[in-house]
Amino acid sequence: MKKMLLLFYLTACCTLLSLSSWAAEQPAPQVVVSIKPLHSLISGVMQGVGEPQLLVKGGSSPHSYVLRPSEARALARADLIIWVGHQLESFLEKPLATLGREARQIELSKELQPYLLPMRKGGGWERQTHQHKKAEHTEETEGHHEDHAAHPAMNEQGEKNPHLWLDPLLAIRIVDLATAAISEIDPAHRTQYADNSTQLKMRLTKLHAELQTKLAPVRDTPYIVFHDAYQYFETAFGLNAVGSLTIDPERKPGARRILKIRQKIKQLNARCVFSEPQFEPRLVATVIEGSNAKTGILDPLGADLPNEPNSYFTLLNRLAENLIEGLRQSP
Ligand SMILES: [Zn+2]
Repeated sequence: MKKMLLLFYLTACCTLLSLSSWAAEQPAPQVVVSIKPLHSLISGVMQGVGEPQLLVKGGSSPHSYVLRPSEARALARADLIIWVGHQLESFLEKPLATLGREARQIELSKELQPYLLPMRKGGGWERQTHQHKKAEHTEETEGHHEDHAAHPAMNEQGEKNPHLWLDPLLAIRIVDLATAAISEIDPAHRTQYADNSTQLKMRLTKLHAELQTKLAPVRDTPYIVFHDAYQYFETAFGLNAVGSLTIDPERKPGARRILKIRQKIKQLNARCVFSEPQFEPRLVATVIEGSNAKTGILDPLGADLPNEPNSYFTLLNRLAENLIEGLRQSP
């Protein structure tokens, strides 16, 4: 009988203890994110409570990723999965419908649909917010112009550019969406998530203002990128990218496109052609042959950055620095 009483006391004590530290002991929600920049932002939201799990690691490209068994298991266990959408991480489309069906899912390209920019086509683009340059007028009077699809008005129903994380103001919206979902799943840590979110959004606003100032001197300098991953960065800071080497980063551009890019480099006096660590740089050497253009590297994902809240800021700062480095006038 005494034994029973002791057991009763023990149980009662444990219950009281666990109630008082309920919030602290609440397990962190299982959040799975697709790419590193998202991982960094969501890590910032969850700081002090838990950490999201990242799928596309290291130098891999989300355009061609293959899911590993351990990652499939993570999807099956997840409370929340955050990804951009089928245009970027096509490898996730089927697993999300099967393995991830129990989890809450945030497809950012759907949630942020009103803010998305249209996919640009062709070997060169036109600057949409500034007046046309002389070279482009010449091209038009020649009666040969296949880049009209680049105008948003003519491409409104078409595909949208999925690389939405490179605009810090859209990053703020991502933080808001994630904070709301995570707080609903784990209300015990609601205050912590809200505080983290406020801090993070203040830093993002500051980053936007800082980069605006930093990039102002190279705003008008024309350049070519490897694939159209930087449109949101360009738009956020009013930059002058004039074309991309590939439409689909997984496919080599044809001879005709390479020729067109070469013409564009000469016509617009493009100062730099940027490659990416995720893709083959030999192509870049081919297109700048016989021109004055320099080469540089831009990384839209932050392949080598650690999985932590600060990486998003390093990623954007580094993009700005690499751009300035490639675009400034050589002495
Ligand atoms: Zn891409």
